[in-house]
Amino acid sequence: MTARTRKKLDSQPTFKESMKRFSVWRLAMIMTIGAVAFTGCGVSVQNSSTGSAPGTVVERDSVPAELRNAMKAVEPFFQPMPAPGPNDWLATFNEPGQTFDEYINSNPTVPTAERSKIYVLPLGDFTDKQRQVIDITSSYLGAFFGLAVETLPQQKIPRPLRLKDSRLIPTDGREQIRTGFILDDILQPMLPKDAAALIAFTNDDLYPDDSMYYVFGQASLENRVGVWSLFRLDDRIEPGNFLRRTIKIAAHETGHMFSMHHCTKYNCVMSGSNHLAETDSHPIDACPECMAKICWFLHILPAERYRKLADLCRAKGLNKEADEFERKYAAVRSGY
Ligand SMILES: [Zn+2]
Ligand SMILES: [Zn+2]
Repeated sequence: MTARTRKKLDSQPTFKESMKRFSVWRLAMIMTIGAVAFTGCGVSVQNSSTGSAPGTVVERDSVPAELRNAMKAVEPFFQPMPAPGPNDWLATFNEPGQTFDEYINSNPTVPTAERSKIYVLPLGDFTDKQRQVIDITSSYLGAFFGLAVETLPQQKIPRPLRLKDSRLIPTDGREQIRTGFILDDILQPMLPKDAAALIAFTNDDLYPDDSMYYVFGQASLENRVGVWSLFRLDDRIEPGNFLRRTIKIAAHETGHMFSMHHCTKYNCVMSGSNHLAETDSHPIDACPECMAKICWFLHILPAERYRKLADLCRAKGLNKEADEFERKYAAVRSGY
């Protein structure tokens, strides 16, 4: 989600240079994937659909009235997207956003009866605290996307790495691992048939190619695999905020795997983020437009989803978020 360095090192590009390289990379991505443009979060390929048939236009009338009503009911819980600060995402990238109606008419990649499970793979070594955050984040993804989540046995990254699959930062000799290696050589061969998505969490620093300094993660829409790194999220901060950052990155990137674009209408978990302060300013929840996309592809009503999210956040000590999910639950229930 970001190309900005947290700590600038001598050999690293300046922020401006990073963004220039980042833009070049992004342009290449746009050329590759057509209409869908995702940047530092790194969705790499546009998929053939598992949703509605190509060219099919979903009639607005086919959306349940309850879902439209629920979108209205939760509007007061979200702030319209504010004007961006100079280093914020929308100051850097001119993105149109994507409404619910645009989404359902975009032939999105969505979970199906045959591909209905999110698999999580802890990849590499983790502290107890990091492992706990991955477990809670996995549960959150289950409630957020309404899908079963299965955590696979922890694996180590196979070594030695080929030269093309890693690089060292010259100033401190720290290793970074190429995302394509994890996606293509580790995740793809082990992708279960019933996976809507296979997501690896790693504590290693990641880069997609030499045009970028780092990425938080990268996903392949076509292949249903993604890898997210905890490395840049700074686990030295207050534990609840480290958990929130991890949840936001995971929900945001998994949303991309289901063809959800960046959100520009509200301050939303699907809004683009150029730096951690911007990530911190986003909620862990999806705005009315993005929530409707999830409920639409799941064929569920929002109350059911909010109930699960409220219960999960309460159980995991995210009380502020639990209270808000409770209020959203009550709001949508009264609107039916
Ligand atoms: Zn993104
Ligand atoms: Zn949104």
